[in-house]
Order: sequence, then structure tokens, then C-alpha cells
Amino acid sequence: MPIRCKEVSSTFARVPRSKLLENACLSRDGRQALVMRFQPSYIRLYETGELAGRIESLDRILKECVICPRRCRVDRTVCERGVCGVGTLPVVSSHNPHFGEEPPLVGWGGSGTIFMTYCNLKCVFCQNYDISHLGYGEEVSCGELAAMMLELQESGCHNINFVTPTHQIAQIVRSLPLAVEKGLKLPLVYNCGGYEAVETIRFLDGIFDIYMPDIKYGDDEAAARYSGAKDYVERCRESVKEMHRQVGDLVVDSRGIAQRGLIIRHLVMPDGVAGTREVMRFIAREISRNSYVNIMDQYRPCFKAFDHPPLDRRITPEEFDEALSIAREEGITRLAGITE
Ligand code: SF4
Repeated sequence: MPIRCKEVSSTFARVPRSKLLENACLSRDGRQALVMRFQPSYIRLYETGELAGRIESLDRILKECVICPRRCRVDRTVCERGVCGVGTLPVVSSHNPHFGEEPPLVGWGGSGTIFMTYCNLKCVFCQNYDISHLGYGEEVSCGELAAMMLELQESGCHNINFVTPTHQIAQIVRSLPLAVEKGLKLPLVYNCGGYEAVETIRFLDGIFDIYMPDIKYGDDEAAARYSGAKDYVERCRESVKEMHRQVGDLVVDSRGIAQRGLIIRHLVMPDGVAGTREVMRFIAREISRNSYVNIMDQYRPCFKAFDHPPLDRRITPEEFDEALSIAREEGITRLAGITE
């Protein structure tokens, strides 16, 4: 069962009452319903001036960039570029209400996705390779990025969902106060590939209410071969632990809309390449058995996957069923689309 705000839960109890607002909201069927809604955490950081300090800290890291585990040490403040290919300004490929994300993010108004261009991972099977590898997108100012957030809020989205934010997080956080000043009040989603520097994630405490990392691999050999990240497992695990420490298990309001917490994605790949057993065991034992986990079946060969068997085929229904069975065996209780 999802944790709902009006129910008592240990996760919810950890959130200070001062962070909650009582709001009268229209429910999906148009009736007025009293809904407990979070005030997004970043509002407090903005009001106390702490957000300005985080912006300075992240900008300082850009000068010798160690924003992600690649640790390129290039000076991105003068537009030097490292592995990810992004310099000083944000680069965005699109911003739209998205209805294909997890139900607690989509609701009825959609998730306000902003697709950030390029990526710090080099997955040979990337399904968005035109954006992440080929750099489809445009450089924008921080003011323009803030305007996109406000436009998505205006169109009725439930959250602002930054897709592949890792390598552009300093630019995103720099844009945030410009949006807050003009009335942004939706929770932010950090929708990442899981190859994160835990030191950077610590700087995001109180800025993102929802973390949505992939956990792509259970072993580094596959991560090195298919994503060019030989330390993926350790970097991902320590970062997901930190994300969970900050926001806890997923909490939804009485309408089923995500307010705060962790959503984990795991894409099943052919021949067990994704290491589903190791991933589910890690989540159950070191994060929480109550983690909201989306085990995804939509793998299809893209980009260079045809040159890398067994990634040159879709998964079978049996492989997907086996992944679900493994999750249950390891004790995961909240499976997106299955148990809720
Ligand atoms: S964010 Fe980009 S430049 Fe910075 S360490 Fe990562 S890949 Fe390198």
C-alpha cells in the first residue's frame, strides 16, 4: 500500500510539521478535497538564504569539475568541457508535461519534464542517444530555464522533473531562485542515471524532494562494458543511500500524487546483464524494503546495442517475470504497476 499523508507512517512522522501546508485542492473528479501538501523543501532554503550558499558551493566545484564521478577537473566556468560535454550554461533539449512517468508523478496534470542535454554515462544502448550522446538541444540562460519551470507549473504539472540532471546540477540550482521569486512551488524531481558523486548529492539536501535514480547494474564489469563506468556500482549505491537518508521512502498525498521520497528504477536487460538479484538485494537490505521500485520491461536495442550482444535483442516475457520474482524473493514490497 502506498504511504498516504493522512496516514501515520514513520517516514511521514520524520517530516517537521512546519513543512506541511493544509490546502483545499480539487481532486481528479472535480470535487474539493482537503489535501495535506508539502511545501517544497527549497522554499525554506531560499527564505533562509541557504540556497544562495549552495549555489556558490556548486559553482565553486565547476571551476575544477568533480560534479560527478568522472572527476574531469576542467574549468567549466570558462566553458572548458569534460566527458559530459556541457560548459557553463544549461543545455536543454525539451520541456513538456509528460504522461509516461510513474503514476505518482503523472497524476492527471502530468510530470513537468525538462530534458537536459548530454549525459555523464556512455550507455551503448541509450534510448535517448540523440539527446545524451549527439547533444540535441540548445544552450539557454538560467532565466530561461527558470521560465520553463514556471511554464510547466502553469500548465498544471505536479512536479518539475529534471531528466539527466547530474552534470548540469549547478546550472539547475543556479536557476532555482529565479523561479522561486516568480512563484514556483512544485516539488523537484532528480531523475538520474545513478552515476553520481555522493559529495554533490549532499549539496542537494533540502533542494530536491523526490529522487528518482536508475540502478542500472549489479556489477562493475557490465557497467564498464556497456556504460563506460567502471565504478558505477559503488558510486550509485553510496549516492542512493544518501538520497534515501535525505527524503526517505516515497510519500504520496491523499490524491496519490508524489510529494517526497525515493523512486528507484531498474531496467531489465537481456541475459541478466542488469544484475537484478544484486540490485534488489541491495535495495531490500541497505535502503528499505518499502522502497518504491519500478522494474521496467521496455528495453529495446538502440544506438550501438546491435554491436553488443546480448543487448541486440529485447527481453523475453520470461526474463521480465523472473526479475519480478527476484524482487519479491528479496523482500521488495512496493513494485510500480504490480503492487500499487
Ligand atoms: S560533470 Fe561533466 S565535466 Fe564534470 S566531472 Fe562529470 S563528466 Fe566531467
